[in-house]
Amino acid sequence: MKKHNFFAGPGILPGPVYEQAKQAIDDFAGMGVSILSVSHRSAEFSAVMEKARTLVKELMNLDDDFEVLFLQGGASMQFLQIPYNLMHKKAAYLDTGAWASKAIKESRYFGETVVVASSANEQYSYIPKGYPVPEDADYLHVTTNNTIYGTQMFDFPETEVPLVADMSSDIFSRKLDFNRFGLIYAGAQKNMGPAGTVLVAVRKSLLGKTGRRIPTMLDYETHIAKGSMFNTPPVFAVYVSMLTLEWVKAKGGVEAMEKINREKSRLLYKELDRNPLFNTKVRKEDRSMMNVTFDLTDESLRPEFDRMWKEAGIIGLKGHRSVGGYRASLYNALPLESVKTLVEVMQELEKKA
Ligand SMILES: *Cc1c(COP(=O)(O)O)cnc(C)c1O
Repeated sequence: MKKHNFFAGPGILPGPVYEQAKQAIDDFAGMGVSILSVSHRSAEFSAVMEKARTLVKELMNLDDDFEVLFLQGGASMQFLQIPYNLMHKKAAYLDTGAWASKAIKESRYFGETVVVASSANEQYSYIPKGYPVPEDADYLHVTTNNTIYGTQMFDFPETEVPLVADMSSDIFSRKLDFNRFGLIYAGAQKNMGPAGTVLVAVRKSLLGKTGRRIPTMLDYETHIAKGSMFNTPPVFAVYVSMLTLEWVKAKGGVEAMEKINREKSRLLYKELDRNPLFNTKVRKEDRSMMNVTFDLTDESLRPEFDRMWKEAGIIGLKGHRSVGGYRASLYNALPLESVKTLVEVMQELEKKA
């Protein structure tokens, strides 16, 4: 693993996690068989699932009303599973980007969907603030970090309406009062594990209120009743997520992650603000610590810049196909050294230009 990995997702995981995962492919928990070929009902894997669920509660300091599930279908399945389980009549959504828009689209299949505010008019370069939330909404859905545009929410509306949050790209990256939320979800593959599972932490007290009949697999209660093992869970993805959660805990938890993530992002934004060859469209107060989007001010430098960062061992710097430019994803496992390398390349380019 010699590259500086800036991919937005699936993203970089901690070095020791790759090592432990390799070992488990060979021999899981001393059972003499691979993690890829072990019963999910074995005591050894049941312990992994329990550990993963417990670590989530511990790292986010969740109160006892929360149930933690590892489901399938990605964050995209949650776009529909959430309204299916939580919407009685009306739901509110904050439109901060492509993922939020996709969630809004699914919500409309289930009932009245109010978009409380949108930053679409300015290419999602900021987080709307000061919007009213309808008091009779069953929940307000927000995207805490907008992976594609590079914006992040630092303030949350004061409302009695339960907050539902897509934290796919900033889960476990910073400290928040997670008990303010009614439901938190995150596809594993950005900052928690490999692709193949989605984390859902949901308040039991919000369930069973829609009057709707929910098909078994899409009903959160099914998975809660069976400890997230109603059907075969994505064994390997849950295992690797558990390893990553252990790593986060050993490193000092979300506070420690936040400290280093602040340092990494500050270093890169400082260079973007200083270096005249680069710019970023995102409003200062909404800049993401996880996904930093930027571009060259002079298009003609693109071939040279691309050659230089590739030569420096950097991979995954291309912006999302809908936005273009560049995006550096600074997930928990990305070392500060990788950001320093990118900044050095930017400074080299400036010297040459
Ligand atoms: C990647 C991403 C998704 C989609 O996740 P899938 O697991 O591919 O469905 C949803 N929301 C956000 C914020 C994301 O970054």
